[in-house]
Amino acid sequence: MKNQIVVSFIVLSAIASLFPANTIALDQVSLPKKIALTLDDSPRSANGYFDGETRSKKLIQLLDDKEVSQVAFFSVSSRLDDEGSERLMRYAKAGHIIANHTHTHPDFNKLTLDEYKQDFLKAHHSLKDYPNFKPWFRFPYLREGDTREKIDSMRNLLKKMDYTNVYITQNNYDWYLESLFQKAVKSGQKFQIDNIKELYVDLMMQSIRYYDDMAIQHLNRSPKHILLLHEMDITALFLGDLIDQLRAEGWQIISPEEALEDPIAKIETKSIFKFNPGRIGEIAKDNDQKKGLWHSSLEENFIEQQFQERVLKIKEDKSVNTN
Ligand SMILES: [Zn+2]
Repeated sequence: MKNQIVVSFIVLSAIASLFPANTIALDQVSLPKKIALTLDDSPRSANGYFDGETRSKKLIQLLDDKEVSQVAFFSVSSRLDDEGSERLMRYAKAGHIIANHTHTHPDFNKLTLDEYKQDFLKAHHSLKDYPNFKPWFRFPYLREGDTREKIDSMRNLLKKMDYTNVYITQNNYDWYLESLFQKAVKSGQKFQIDNIKELYVDLMMQSIRYYDDMAIQHLNRSPKHILLLHEMDITALFLGDLIDQLRAEGWQIISPEEALEDPIAKIETKSIFKFNPGRIGEIAKDNDQKKGLWHSSLEENFIEQQFQERVLKIKEDKSVNTN
């Protein structure tokens, strides 16, 4: 009997040694990985492909089809003419959150503190009576202030008004891909829409995996992520495919409210950023990581080159160039 116990102990120890403790712990805490969806700049003006109303209807329909019951729309209140206002109401009535993204989408690096605060307050007054409004703020361009005074003063104002700074953990340049897409449509260039879809999903997944890995490196776990998206035509066209890919890779789509329960929501980072890569980059910089705060897919030249090769096929088919 005693020998049996000793043998069992040896066997168990041998098995345990095959799985280093941190591997087991990471797998246990990080599956399924979780991510919430947030769409900035609503109601964004029509850019050529869809009109604004069609874009909004398509977004609502695709979220419904994919059973994503709640996303947040960070809204710019200077765009609330009759059409824009009706679009926000549509989002709200579909169960999505309406939140503050300033009145005129200013760059905090270029405004005084007072000018910036006034812009934020103006948006608050325009947006606060929408159904499903939440006192949540998304800094335009993610710029939270380039001086200690600006950062602290906005943090205090948000606290005083019971606002939450809804940071993002997942940065990307979806807006730049949208601009290349609209330019190609306007200039009548020929391309397969499926090729843009594949490029969109690929670029988004690359940055998502990158910032999740960076988060695990610094937090030893995969946090509840918040994905930055924009209320744009490529989002209305391809977000459903991105959701499918996320789920295929083991991600679960959660509400922004659930994402904000993560302890990283309470962090007030110390570093000052002129250009902020998002909360994982902030945490990494506070931990002394100096390189790689921005993923290579967040670079205009890189996206442009990918677009030419994979969508316009300029490298493979020179005739496209001369037409
Ligand atoms: Zn924005």
